[in-house]
Amino acid sequence: MTTAAASKITGKNHIGYRISAKGTITYKTFNPELNTDNEPTFFEASSEEINEAVSLATKAFESFKTIPGQKKAAFLNAIADEILNLGDTLLQTYCSETGLPEARAIGERGRTVFQLRSFAELVEEGSWVEASIDTAIPDRTPLPKPDLRRMNVPLGPVVVFGASNFPLAYSTAGGDTAAALAAGCPVIVKSHPMHAGTGELVASAIIAAAQKTDMPEGVFSNLNSSGIEVGQQLVQHPSIKAVGFTGSLRGGRALLDLAAKREEPIPVFAEMGSVNPVIVLPEALKTRGEELAKTYAGSITVGTGQFCTNPGLILGIDSEELHKFTKLLSEEIIKVNPTCMLHPAIKQAYQHNRATILNEDNVTVIAEYPNEPNANYAKQTVAVVTGEDFIKNPKLHQEVFGPFSLLVKCKDKQELEKAIFNIEGQLTGTILGNILEINEYNYLLSLLSNKVGRVIFNGVPTGVEVCPSMVHGGPYPSSTDSRYSAVGTSSIKRWVRPFSYQNWPNELLPNELKNENPLGILRLVNNQLTKNTIY
Ligand code: NAP
Repeated sequence: MTTAAASKITGKNHIGYRISAKGTITYKTFNPELNTDNEPTFFEASSEEINEAVSLATKAFESFKTIPGQKKAAFLNAIADEILNLGDTLLQTYCSETGLPEARAIGERGRTVFQLRSFAELVEEGSWVEASIDTAIPDRTPLPKPDLRRMNVPLGPVVVFGASNFPLAYSTAGGDTAAALAAGCPVIVKSHPMHAGTGELVASAIIAAAQKTDMPEGVFSNLNSSGIEVGQQLVQHPSIKAVGFTGSLRGGRALLDLAAKREEPIPVFAEMGSVNPVIVLPEALKTRGEELAKTYAGSITVGTGQFCTNPGLILGIDSEELHKFTKLLSEEIIKVNPTCMLHPAIKQAYQHNRATILNEDNVTVIAEYPNEPNANYAKQTVAVVTGEDFIKNPKLHQEVFGPFSLLVKCKDKQELEKAIFNIEGQLTGTILGNILEINEYNYLLSLLSNKVGRVIFNGVPTGVEVCPSMVHGGPYPSSTDSRYSAVGTSSIKRWVRPFSYQNWPNELLPNELKNENPLGILRLVNNQLTKNTIY
């Protein structure tokens, strides 16, 4: 592996091209494997520093919003290069702040770099602005038709909150940041306190890339915080125009409410928790019960269950096959060696949320790792409840972030439909079945599709491919706006607004909308998709 670039963890805030530590609140990150604090001390951003970052971002926006796609692409590719240049230092810091293994760090870094390069390609090509042109008809009666030209333009400075469980791919230079920068929005990251060192290293890579590619100062800042105040102040700042959030329902909802109460409400794109229902149909159980039990034992425990797409709910119709599947799943799941959770607070939340469900009436544990694992390791657990109890008790629908799944045994097809009708919005829904039996369950499928952003056929919900057709989002409460995806290049749409020019002189139009189409992008001209010049 390459050696680290000249970056080091200072514990300070990165405000434009300066580092700064004016605040008095300090904190450390924690190594959950070693069960001890990590060395560096971090300085929480003060109010003054928050205002400095926002003021620089506001100024940077005026030039950044019009930077050509090629230059933005160079910036995004340079961020990817600088992240790779951080070498082992980044990987070691990541592991020491999360308890996640090096292979996961390498994989997540690869995903982060891929996301940055995908957005670079998108903005370099340019058609993402969705240019639409309706040329004038001056002699139309009774009124002449004006010339109207529309394209997507960036919203302004945005704040990004990263998730505890993806220190790279959904944090400092993760999907939200890459998409917002690609759109032309300066970004201020509210660093996640659990991986502040990883965050600072990545922030230094973004800043080095910005300087190398001549971006305006303030296009990116990284602010530390150990509590919620820095994030709250940022979301309420009048110059902030949108918020990206990945985390818990509680956190996302609080920020959504805060943004709605501002004098100028702003959009909050929050991707939150989900229990990702998995429906096991009878024929699948008959023919593949054993294989499914093994696969699901893996999916429930992968990454210590710390994925927003973890299968937290498995539903089926009570039968001999379902009993057999339950038994097999129980046997398989306890064979898996427990792994470390991200932080003692996450482990505590896991135990608390798991106990809340297990203490509800008629919930029975059917499998639990039998031995006492190391500190900060989680005991994987599967519990069972009837469809009737599940339907009447919304507490059982809540996410338990960790290696936990609740199996719901419904008495018949109607009860299964009712259970799906009663669940809240989810990121994903999975059907395990044979093609021939799917027709019988059309209504169930239709109910499921109302609740989710993505349906999976005969697979597992864990594993989110980064590509334009991915939808990672879903009806509330899995996200705050089901019209957008947080993963894939389509996520750029969250950071733009449509803007029209009416009867604007050709020479004053942006290149995307000029008659001669100098960028050669695909445009909707008088209702026809074309790259042609307008004569
Ligand atoms: P979290 O506790 O909500 O924290 C996320 C960030 O938001 C942190 O920086 C936190 O700051 C901040 N925050 C939380 N509440 C806040 C409030 N009221 N006001 C201002 N800021 C606030 O979530 P997490 O522990 O990082 O992640 C675990 C959760 O994320 C799980 O529920 C999981 O399902 C979900 N998740 C969802 C996705 C997805 O794509 N949908 C992906 C990954 C994870 P402090 O820590 O400083 O308080």
